[in-house]
Amino acid sequence: MEGMSFFKQWYKAICEADFTIHNFPFGSGIIRGEKSPRSLSAFGYYAIDLHAARQAGVLGNLTWSEDIFLRPVLNDFIALGKEASERVRKKLQDALARYSPDDPDLASLFPWLIPMDHVQLTMPVHVPNYTDFYSSLEHATNLGRMFRPDGDPLLPNWRHMPIGYHGRASSIVVSGTPIRRPWGQAKPDDAAEPVFRPTQLLDIELEFAFVVGRNSSLGQPVKTQEALDYIFGFVLFNDWSARDIQKWEYQPLGPFLGKNFGSTISPWIVTTEALEPFRIEGPVQEPAVLPYLRCEGPLNYDIELNVYLQLPGQEPALISVSNTRYLYWNVCQQLAHHTVNGCNVQIGDIYASGTISAPYRGGEGSLIELTRKGAEPITLPDGTKRTFLQDHDTVHFRGFAMRDGLSLGFGLCSGRIDPPLENPV
Ligand code: MN
Repeated sequence: MEGMSFFKQWYKAICEADFTIHNFPFGSGIIRGEKSPRSLSAFGYYAIDLHAARQAGVLGNLTWSEDIFLRPVLNDFIALGKEASERVRKKLQDALARYSPDDPDLASLFPWLIPMDHVQLTMPVHVPNYTDFYSSLEHATNLGRMFRPDGDPLLPNWRHMPIGYHGRASSIVVSGTPIRRPWGQAKPDDAAEPVFRPTQLLDIELEFAFVVGRNSSLGQPVKTQEALDYIFGFVLFNDWSARDIQKWEYQPLGPFLGKNFGSTISPWIVTTEALEPFRIEGPVQEPAVLPYLRCEGPLNYDIELNVYLQLPGQEPALISVSNTRYLYWNVCQQLAHHTVNGCNVQIGDIYASGTISAPYRGGEGSLIELTRKGAEPITLPDGTKRTFLQDHDTVHFRGFAMRDGLSLGFGLCSGRIDPPLENPV
């Protein structure tokens, strides 16, 4: 480890903890010396070149198109169905069962394992559509209190349906892509007229998102009981938010330019099947939901979520610890609600949970909540105080699950803030 930067050591340790023999997530990336992205999986600090593994016979005899893993995104592979992804996971598990993810000999034993620092990870899927929900009771309550101090913090519809809006798919980027501070209209409380300026209240939203694995038909709802068949897997999601722009624009139609300048996903899609052991019962829903939202069994997930803030030249500092278990509405209800009117879903679509805030201080999934609208700044290890993000700050999300000797994680979902354009218009 000597000579290795703190960040690289930290990232390597995260990969070795997250990409276990149980996981085998799917991603895309450009291997050093290559020109275009291809399909990958991961084991420890190695990316798995799926095309090379196939050619080496690791995946057995396959009828799939010869170049299925040489395409820049996974959409065509995902379209083969869960049998295909489960077969790949099983074959990779068989091939690597006797090895530990931190085994230093792995790359010499298996030429289809590529050290992670020789790969530039890219968007794993083409995203046709993106929707953002608002499924955390604690987050909705915290925000309701801030924006509507008098009266019930929850609006009357909140406990009856998973509230959501259609977001912008074109600006979803993969972890590691810089996010430029946006310009926009804001109206300061003490001003009579709006001003045009770079956002002063740049925030994060800690979210958990699913990637659709199967097209549904226009006009045909997806029922809660069949929803998991339509979900290929999950990623961490940062719904970067400009609160001053959002506050001035959101009524009457909801989020727009305060959100659509960029959202970051973690590069590895962890499959629905890999997450099966980490399913838990959700919260009791009161009042009872309408019949089309009813579902049974453990449909929430127990995945710890960490938020790190890293200032230039410093190590990442942990600023929030939450968990996907705090979602009030589960993914089956989200998908059933989204399609109950006949709206169809498409392979590669991303559906994000909404900010996940825990019911305790220090578990909030956004800076506006963590700092009480800026009134209680976060103090970092070097004494620096932060309310909202400054230029060159980096935010990392991490997600990790452990149960009955099984563990897995999502790697990092990271983004650094670039300064605003000098003359945007
Ligand atoms: Mn959001």
